[in-house]
Amino acid sequence: MKDTVDHKLAFPHTEYSGFDAGLSEQEAAALEGVNRFAREVMRPIGIELDRMDPDVAYEKGSPFWDFHDAIRALGLGPEAMEGLSAREAARMEALVVAELGWGDAGLAVSAGAGEMPIRAAMAAGNQELVDLCQGKLGCWIASQPDRGSDGMTLYPQERKPGSKGNIGNLQARFVGDEIIVNGQSSAWVSNGYVAEVGLLDIVADYGNGFYDEEGSVHGCLVVVPLDLPGISRGRPLRKLGKRPLPQGEIFFDNVRIPRRFATAERDDFKTKHALSWAHAGTNMAHLATGLARAAFEHALTYCNERRQGGGLIADLQLTQYRLGVIGAKVEAIKAMARHVAEYTKCSPVPHPYFTASGKAFCTREMFEVVNESMQLFGGNGLTQEYPLEKLLRDARAMQIEDGETNVLFMHFGFLMAQMNRHTGWGKN
Ligand SMILES: Cc1cc2nc3c(=O)[nH]c(=O)nc-3n(C[C@H](O)[C@H](O)[C@H](O)COP(=O)(O)OP(=O)(O)OC[C@H]3O[C@@H](n4cnc5c(N)ncnc54)[C@H](O)[C@@H]3O)c2cc1C
Repeated sequence: MKDTVDHKLAFPHTEYSGFDAGLSEQEAAALEGVNRFAREVMRPIGIELDRMDPDVAYEKGSPFWDFHDAIRALGLGPEAMEGLSAREAARMEALVVAELGWGDAGLAVSAGAGEMPIRAAMAAGNQELVDLCQGKLGCWIASQPDRGSDGMTLYPQERKPGSKGNIGNLQARFVGDEIIVNGQSSAWVSNGYVAEVGLLDIVADYGNGFYDEEGSVHGCLVVVPLDLPGISRGRPLRKLGKRPLPQGEIFFDNVRIPRRFATAERDDFKTKHALSWAHAGTNMAHLATGLARAAFEHALTYCNERRQGGGLIADLQLTQYRLGVIGAKVEAIKAMARHVAEYTKCSPVPHPYFTASGKAFCTREMFEVVNESMQLFGGNGLTQEYPLEKLLRDARAMQIEDGETNVLFMHFGFLMAQMNRHTGWGKN
């Protein structure tokens, strides 16, 4: 293989992750292993599941479960970061999660959402709940049919004046040493159709109603085994993108959960809810990094194979310019994702509205990269013979998943304006 363009100046150093240098031995080994897994296991399974009917795609014995057996054997769970400093853990997580997004973003979300309950249990230091979640596929039960973006609003000033918080369609009541849950989730809960354990992130009544004195809702985080009496499921969701990820409604009819399964109650709910949301936001930014790079690499290779205008389209200056623009975006998405992740892990006070800005920025730019990559494929990009049409559908879903882009930018703008007004931050 040639290592220069013209034998005068060497090509720059790159890694699987793109223009990266100075990886530690541990990072390089992890990157290599996860890239192989993403290429050999995730991509084929993701394509197979994408084309299957949702009614059979997630049944026992399907490739969906082969993926989960294989990723569990890799040992990438929260325990894999033990012994690393906050900065090292942020860097390692960035490399690993982006590579999973490069393999298949839907399966990567299934793995990430699958860990939400055990992460909450570990953060709470509750060994009983850790044992309960161990080896089980999890989900995060937050959004509901009538409570979408509202569930991510943290401050009363963001609501219409005079309005109250939205209690939605799924509520917890704390009675003695029990929590009683009634209602239903949205159909969008990732792994909702198949999960064995859930992390409820919903409104709660602690005996004095759902509202505090400002009209905001009380909340709770509760780990719930999903085989308790009174729990049932809807059908798997039929959707445009992220089809390898099983989603569906979960119904709760007077479900009684021991109070000790709560990992956050009235007083610490806001802080812990903010932290789990911040974690989800950084993950999404890393996944966008990987998905953008996957689409870009396909386009780059295609431009070096497709002949038009008398030669390879990669030799046309217009194509080179277009590749340069999206190549730079791929690197910018990666840099932003790593920045929000490092800030969130290292800051004494992180904030989910900042993480949300990273998620919104990375997924929006990622969509531009995937769209332009598809454009570089011409008509071929639209067919199932080539990978771009699936990547575009997956990228589209990520504009809404874990918070719709405009709403997330709006939250970040609100936060900065409040900081400027109340703390003087950003004043000349
Ligand atoms: C692939 C995928 C995976 C998901 N996984 C999960 C999961 O694991 N668990 C879970 O609980 N949920 C999950 N969700 C749900 C997701 O969190 C919600 O879809 C998202 O928060 C948006 O809510 P909504 O769909 O109800 O849209 P809505 O909130 O109804 O928004 C509709 C439109 O109204 C606009 N809008 C809303 N509020 C405002 C406002 N205050 N000001 C201005 N405009 C506004 C929005 O910008 C949007 O364009 C997932 C969704 C997707 C697509």
